[in-house]
Amino acid sequence: MILGEMSLDGSINGICGVLPMICKAEEKGIKCCILPWENQKEAALISGMKIIGVRSLQEVIRFINREADETIGFPEKRSFVSKKGTALEMDFCDVKGQYMAKRAILIAAAGRHNLLLSGPPGSGKTLLASRIPTILPEMSREEIIEVSKIYSVAGLLNEEGCMHSRPFRAPHHTISQSALLGGGSIPLPGEITLAHQGVLFLDELTKFRGNVLECLRQPLEERQITIIRSTGICRFPSDVMLVAALNPCKCGYYPDRNVCRCTENDIMHHLGKLSRPFLDRFDMAVHVEKPQYEELAGDIRPDVGRMLQRIRESAEEHYIPDMGSRDMKKMVEEVVAIQKKRYQKFPICYNSQLDAKQMKQFCRLDEKGNQLMKKAYECYDLSARGYSKILRVARTIADLEHSEEIQCSHLSEAICFRNLEFLSNGF
Ligand SMILES: [Zn+2]
Repeated sequence: MILGEMSLDGSINGICGVLPMICKAEEKGIKCCILPWENQKEAALISGMKIIGVRSLQEVIRFINREADETIGFPEKRSFVSKKGTALEMDFCDVKGQYMAKRAILIAAAGRHNLLLSGPPGSGKTLLASRIPTILPEMSREEIIEVSKIYSVAGLLNEEGCMHSRPFRAPHHTISQSALLGGGSIPLPGEITLAHQGVLFLDELTKFRGNVLECLRQPLEERQITIIRSTGICRFPSDVMLVAALNPCKCGYYPDRNVCRCTENDIMHHLGKLSRPFLDRFDMAVHVEKPQYEELAGDIRPDVGRMLQRIRESAEEHYIPDMGSRDMKKMVEEVVAIQKKRYQKFPICYNSQLDAKQMKQFCRLDEKGNQLMKKAYECYDLSARGYSKILRVARTIADLEHSEEIQCSHLSEAICFRNLEFLSNGF
């Protein structure tokens, strides 16, 4: 196979989408490929193919005439060992306090649950979200190739020619529908596809255009997006962990009525753009408080320490305060391994992907659990969707504690992460 774009002077320029073309060619039994020098690194990810990188048409002729010398590239085959053990640029231990939020993020990352962070400006929502990739499990060989293919098509592959770490995409709220979902006359992947196998983070959720958010519903549910053009149908994967952040009202301080003077109407208007079906895509929601001064300063006096402990008793019960990304990632990877083993005969990998039938099998409750869920169902006026989301999150919490059975403590924690006061109508 010969790939490349030739200039009028005979030089060969790099092109987009080499990796998926090489994968397909290998499937078809092609053994050798001549391609642009710039693209040889990504092509070398595929082990079964001989790759010849060239810079000009003359080099192609020389190769075909068997006059090749060292100026023509034969890249070394690539390994998939990612750089383990290197110091992380960002780490959860940089975020002081925020035990509830960190706990929610740990659970969400372990079961790939979609997470909504709400809280006043400056409470650290973006700080928290941007650290999520540091605790996501390492990508498998298949996942690395899958994600690298997408970046190859989009022309966004890094110099290494390979995506080793899970993507984190944070598009601005002014983004258009086609930039978010993918589009163009020859369709290119949008942000939701660029975030495949990683995190799509929507900061300032209420500022996004309502119709743009609505369009996310289907690809989030189906984990792929279909773009229809007169030239054909194009499908891009979109299996992402959706994380969003918002201010609960215009001033941002609701439900803290010492500060917030917004009326019920203001709040309804502020959140009005977010439809209930869209909010239903979130499995968990957590309110992020501004950290206490003592937490920021890092020297909690004994009496304050006791007070803080009482406030966050339930969160701290599970959470060792200054746990960093390395420890959190280890816990996430353990839970991912549990899920992988449990779902090996099913087309799913994470608890968040359980369908109704699978839930009957894997989320069975005992008598006590059933009673608790009945109470929650009646008290919080849960929808059927809300009910199953609590069960899925509880499944992940049970897995974090290596418990085969879902117990009442797991259920009640899952209910807590669904019971945000300001969203009670939405949920
Ligand atoms: Zn307010």
